[in-house]
Amino acid sequence: MAQQRPPVRPAVAALPAYRPGRNPADLAREIGVDRAIKLASNEVAFPPLPAVVQALATAAGETNRYPDNGAVVLTGALADHYGVDPAQVVAGCGAVMLCQQLAQAYNDPGTSMAFAWRSFEMYPLLARVAGARAVQVPLVPGREGGPADTHDLAALAEAADATTRVVFVCNPNNPTGTAVRRAELERFLDAVPETALVVLDEAYREFVTDPDVPDGLQLMRGRPNVAVLRTFSKAYGLAGLRVGYLVAEDPAVAEAVRKTHVPFSVSTLAQAAAVAALGSGDEVRRRVAAVVAERDRLTAALRERGIDVPDSQANFVWLPVGEATAELAAALEARAVITRPFAGEGIRVTVGTPEEDDAFLAALDGVRAGARVA
Ligand SMILES: *Cc1c(COP(=O)(O)O)cnc(C)c1O
Repeated sequence: MAQQRPPVRPAVAALPAYRPGRNPADLAREIGVDRAIKLASNEVAFPPLPAVVQALATAAGETNRYPDNGAVVLTGALADHYGVDPAQVVAGCGAVMLCQQLAQAYNDPGTSMAFAWRSFEMYPLLARVAGARAVQVPLVPGREGGPADTHDLAALAEAADATTRVVFVCNPNNPTGTAVRRAELERFLDAVPETALVVLDEAYREFVTDPDVPDGLQLMRGRPNVAVLRTFSKAYGLAGLRVGYLVAEDPAVAEAVRKTHVPFSVSTLAQAAAVAALGSGDEVRRRVAAVVAERDRLTAALRERGIDVPDSQANFVWLPVGEATAELAAALEARAVITRPFAGEGIRVTVGTPEEDDAFLAALDGVRAGARVA
């Protein structure tokens, strides 16, 4: 019998179904090994910060109450930390939720959202759900003769027109790890129409070591159409708690984002943990330094193996293996290492502990030795 279904919006029906990432315990069981390692989601390998565990234990006693909907303590702590007004700061249920709030606040159907491609996977999905056009500007080689891995800011500025409401610049870029420098970013901000909000997505800012890669919070001064997005999920190690934040030069931007907030979506635990994490700066810096040292070791080891890995300013590295991507990622999985493949383009590998990275390199060597024999 033919049945009528409530019609899903065409824009939503056309979205790819959500595919959960591979779980290391399931993979280990499937291939019959003790342990599989996951280098797929750019988490840090360290356990939660000690101050975070303490704060969570205390906050657990208050979870019969709703969270503070304005996240006043966290917002104030962030404002103090960065020397901005609390009115410029918005906390969100992960930076991805803030991306969605930005789309809701700025994109009516018929408007557009512009960003580089390949970049963060969420951007095109957000545009489609908002009914906005996604204007995707291809990456270009960061080095002569190298693979396309870096923002083409001149082309992105060109692409932003009177219909463009939001422009994302992911710096450093996920998944390639490359970063744009101060002079080109300033030129870009000068060129983008004032009617487009430029969102500098700095999810990996804490891992940046190149002094020429600007701090978006400094760069946005005096530019009311610029905002910066950051997260506690990566360097601060709170991926499981979901908390990110936006800092806008113009408080009106922060206010618009606040209006599209899902009530109480930043939990009591997330707020308490984020405040504690922000207060653990020394420990976070030590951890970040360890990740950066390991990133450099991993990059060198991959280059020794003939893989053209770009300089990463994040906590992951990019293997531009092109057509070999799907097969290589599957072969690594068969050797108990989960990475993040982008079919036909390359593989993103999160910097893990030295032991995890050695296991990854050994798996890679094993795969390649097997391929040579075959
Ligand atoms: C991880 C990531 C985020 C933040 O994610 P949340 O966990 O939602 O805070 C934002 N942007 C990029 C580019 C990321 O890679």
